[in-house]
Amino acid sequence: MTMSNEGLSLTLNASARSEQVARGEGVQHERVIIIGSGPAGLTAALYTARANLNPLVIAGHELGGQVSLTYEIENYPGFPQGLSGQELVELMKAQAERFGARIKLFSAVTEVDFSKGSPFWLKTDDGTEYLADAVIVTVGATARRLNVPGEKEFTGHGVSYCATCDGFFFRDQNVVVVGGGDSALEEALFLTRFAKRVDIVHRRDQLRAGATLQQRAFANDKIHFIWDTVVEEIIGDEKVRAVRLRNLKTGEVRDYPTDGVFIFIGHDPNSDLFKGQLERDEFGYLVTDRLMRTNIEGVFAAGEVQDRIYRQVATSVGQGAAAAMSAERWLAEHEAERASQPHTVAPNE
Ligand SMILES: Cc1cc2nc3c(=O)[nH]c(=O)nc-3n(C[C@H](O)[C@H](O)[C@H](O)COP(=O)(O)OP(=O)(O)OC[C@H]3O[C@@H](n4cnc5c(N)ncnc54)[C@H](O)[C@@H]3O)c2cc1C
Repeated sequence: MTMSNEGLSLTLNASARSEQVARGEGVQHERVIIIGSGPAGLTAALYTARANLNPLVIAGHELGGQVSLTYEIENYPGFPQGLSGQELVELMKAQAERFGARIKLFSAVTEVDFSKGSPFWLKTDDGTEYLADAVIVTVGATARRLNVPGEKEFTGHGVSYCATCDGFFFRDQNVVVVGGGDSALEEALFLTRFAKRVDIVHRRDQLRAGATLQQRAFANDKIHFIWDTVVEEIIGDEKVRAVRLRNLKTGEVRDYPTDGVFIFIGHDPNSDLFKGQLERDEFGYLVTDRLMRTNIEGVFAAGEVQDRIYRQVATSVGQGAAAAMSAERWLAEHEAERASQPHTVAPNE
């Protein structure tokens, strides 16, 4: 991985700190701030809390992140019977709090300034300003929505954005996949392990996915294509029963029975806040190295905001733990470095 030098400054810079503190009264100084409270953030909170760093988690407006939208999680180790997303979030939160993590609920970071190095300046939507010696960014990602009637209502009850997570629930059933890119085809192929039939609904008459994936999809007997068509509505009662389809060429509208709808029309990392501050790849994911370091020393990132490959609770948790351990080591090294520097007395000190 290549790291740009853009914005790479740093050391715990005492004059920058006092300059920043001078910006406003009541600036709250923290050793570690974790932005986001999904699995990556709550795990980073647990690890930094157990390292006595007294972390502050700025939770965002969705405590628990995407997990809180998940009806049932069966692939997180340690819970052989599975559990609901809400239950997992509550357990992760309680565990982090038990060791002293503080979680600021219903509050999102709206501005950051990482350009002067540590301590880093942040502001939340209630106007509070913070300085943090180290920052761990875990703001996650958002699956693109179709924004059609029924989608929100049936999320977790037949509408899914993750075949790895939910494919198992559709054994011997019929499912519709929406999309025509690589991930739509990859996930459709994965779904054929469980589903009886997989219909790919695509708005065009050809796919955007790579040639090999296309060949594999066309060769699979369980996969069928519905071309030039969009989903206009998801229909059901307690669960999904059908999708309302519109053919864009003929205008024909019909209700097509199905047991599930998997939507793969893209995934966006929530990284806009860090534009111009942290290095991002062509898709907007934050660039990190194996130690979860961003291009700014002292700022770490974990979970889906920097991972477009795995996108699971278990992997996000692992990355959150790694980022916390790296942040702890970085703070220890730099605090020792600072302590060993000779103290020069300013004229008016
Ligand atoms: C419907 C659904 C079902 C899923 N099922 C499973 C499953 O069964 N098994 C599995 O392993 N994975 C599943 N996943 C994927 C899993 O939920 C994600 O991989 C995981 O949540 C990613 O964790 P994260 O901490 O990186 O980010 P997220 O969970 O996306 O959390 C991001 C956090 O950042 C916060 N945030 C965002 N912006 C700001 C800001 N500006 N300031 C402060 N906070 C901010 C949000 O409020 C949120 O708390 C599912 C996902 C979905 C959507």
